[in-house]
Amino acid sequence: MIDQLYRKAVLTVAERKSVENLIRARGWGLAQRFVAGENIPSALKAVKELQAEGILSNLDLLGEFIESPEQCNQFAQNVLDLLDAANAEGIVPYVSIKLSSVGQGKTVGGEDLGLTNARRIVGKARQYGGFVCLDMEDHPRVDQTLAQFRQLVGEFGGEHVGTVLQSYLFRTEADRDSLDDLRPNLRIVKGAYLEPETVAFKDKADVDAAYRRLVYAHLKAGNYTNVATHDESIINDVKHFVLAHGISRDAFEFQMLYGIRRDLQKSLAQEGYRVRAYIPYGRDWYAYFSRRIAETPRNAMFVVRGMLKG
Ligand SMILES: Cc1cc2nc3c(=O)[nH]c(=O)nc-3n(C[C@H](O)[C@H](O)[C@H](O)COP(=O)(O)OP(=O)(O)OC[C@H]3O[C@@H](n4cnc5c(N)ncnc54)[C@H](O)[C@@H]3O)c2cc1C
Repeated sequence: MIDQLYRKAVLTVAERKSVENLIRARGWGLAQRFVAGENIPSALKAVKELQAEGILSNLDLLGEFIESPEQCNQFAQNVLDLLDAANAEGIVPYVSIKLSSVGQGKTVGGEDLGLTNARRIVGKARQYGGFVCLDMEDHPRVDQTLAQFRQLVGEFGGEHVGTVLQSYLFRTEADRDSLDDLRPNLRIVKGAYLEPETVAFKDKADVDAAYRRLVYAHLKAGNYTNVATHDESIINDVKHFVLAHGISRDAFEFQMLYGIRRDLQKSLAQEGYRVRAYIPYGRDWYAYFSRRIAETPRNAMFVVRGMLKG
């Protein structure tokens, strides 16, 4: 409950134009801890730096307030450019996209534009042997995202496309069961949006318990599982679970956000676990940066101290 209040308070302050202007003007240096840069070369540089530490990457082009079909198509084109640039540098591309950014919910030419653009992106990723993860957004989008995921797996195969389930939603364990026939590659997260109590657990203990149940069920079903959390106690429990059930280290990976718990990312990689960092980049970094600050007071202090110094 306190977590929720803190998150809401920070996000409300961050939405104020005066705060945004101040952070945009003076905060880029601070944002660079969480965002790899504003363009493709800086994102690929981060990929290579992590590679040198044995950490894999998942690139995410940031984009907020993409409204018109033209903007959605342009955003999709920017992701295609990223795939080309990664391939040209010898990097097998692994990217995440938000279907809303490429037109989900807008019908163009008789079809959902999000699906049309996702097809272009997954098709190109497959051409390069790469992978596209469909991020999960707020709860009204879950049905359509899962339906489009099913469609894309049918067209391109499950080795090139995955999606995300959020443990804070009441519906999620049933969703996982309903996807099992696809043998889906799923990223399990706790959930990052402010959801109403009619659809989501409010108590952190419930969210964490559902998280463990989801990861264990997905692993037990023999499906590739992306354990996306910075929660060390969950990470330790997953390590014990796979050991106890004889599950190979090739059947799952740990995923964390760029710049968060770098120590843990490194130590897991050194222990021989597969670790992937989610690397956001792009000019639209402000909203992403605000959400990270809203996750923990420690990050808010980091910004306040940085601004006072700067
Ligand atoms: C790779 C990846 C992809 C994601 N994709 C999605 C998605 O598609 N949809 C979605 O809704 N959400 C997504 N999320 C966000 C997720 O839902 C959570 O909001 C976020 O991961 C924080 O939850 P946690 O699991 O780390 O656990 P928490 O219980 O929030 O945190 C556990 C511990 O981790 C550390 N920690 C957590 N966050 C931070 C931070 N910002 N800075 C410093 N320390 C921190 C703290 O020590 C904290 O005590 C993603 C997260 C990751 C890691």
